[in-house]
Amino acid sequence: MKNRTEETRVLVTGAGGFIGHHFVTYLKEKGYWVRGVDIKKPDFKETHADEFHLLDLRRWDNCVEATTGMENVYAMAADMGGMGFISANHAQILRNNSLINIHTLDAAQVNGVKRYLFTSSACIYPELKQAEADVIPLKEQDAYPAQPQDAYGWEKLIAERLCIHYQEELGIETRIVRLHNIFGPLGSWNGGREKAPAALCRKVATAKLTGNPEVEIWGDGEQTRSFCYIDDCVEGIYRLMQSDYSEPLNLGQDRLVTINQLLDMIADIAEIEVVRKPIPGPQGVRGRNSDNSLLNQTLNWEPKVSLETGLKHTYTWIAEQVKAQM
Ligand code: NAD
Repeated sequence: MKNRTEETRVLVTGAGGFIGHHFVTYLKEKGYWVRGVDIKKPDFKETHADEFHLLDLRRWDNCVEATTGMENVYAMAADMGGMGFISANHAQILRNNSLINIHTLDAAQVNGVKRYLFTSSACIYPELKQAEADVIPLKEQDAYPAQPQDAYGWEKLIAERLCIHYQEELGIETRIVRLHNIFGPLGSWNGGREKAPAALCRKVATAKLTGNPEVEIWGDGEQTRSFCYIDDCVEGIYRLMQSDYSEPLNLGQDRLVTINQLLDMIADIAEIEVVRKPIPGPQGVRGRNSDNSLLNQTLNWEPKVSLETGLKHTYTWIAEQVKAQM
């Protein structure tokens, strides 16, 4: 006899991307039937999804096709990347992601999807609350009055509101997770969409292989962030979906480090000495950290993987990629 999990049909959008790919694997290990959708297949490993559809989710008809017959939807598709990409493509990001977010949720509601999880971001928080490196961790209620730094934050905020009102007025149950800097293997590590941990792993691996110890850093490297390993991210997302909590919830680590400290940790893992070279570049807000009080209280859980352990896995994988491309 099939258990309840095997009978639940689940859609993961953005299943060709970093978090989506890992999340499909996680759901399959739990026994779910999974449909993955993306405009591209996963870059580094075959998907474990039962079905994988190549669909452009900016189009409503494609969203209807993607959500047909699904009980749960994890909405992870987005046109996004690290600071370099986000700070230089406001119009494209606002347009593409607004279309994806509105059409996916609307089609899910029309198709009778029971529960829908939206992947929002720490980038929704107001710029003025992130002006210092030694920043006060951000609580969920800090989102308003709204003043995100980039268009990426604005489209996420609008999609959060959409989820809240669709639940209130149209009956679909929604969950909203605000992710804080997720990193790990099988994510973008070159080409312009990579984020700081992956970019620094690539630069350190390159320094080790070439013998040139110089590593470029955008700005003075004293900007701060917290970083959350992918295994904790997928676990937290799943737990939130099972919970009855429908307001936005932070999901991240609350250990604040500077970009310079992050570089030092990666260099330690690689067992090399690097020479920091500050260059002009987009740095985002000066400091950002997650307040995990509500996460703890709501899910009785918080991320566990240490930054050192997560970076070790990530560096090992990226160093292999760099070596293979040299
Ligand atoms: P990613 O870029 O690796 O994955 C996103 C996927 O969406 C990509 O595979 C991309 O091809 C797909 N996509 C883009 N446009 C599409 C379209 N028109 N139709 C169908 N698919 C399309 O990013 P990720 O890191 O896996 O992020 C997943 C989700 O989590 C996104 O919503 C992102 O905004 C959010 N998020 C991520 C982080 C992070 O640190 N990685 C932080 C905050 C929020």
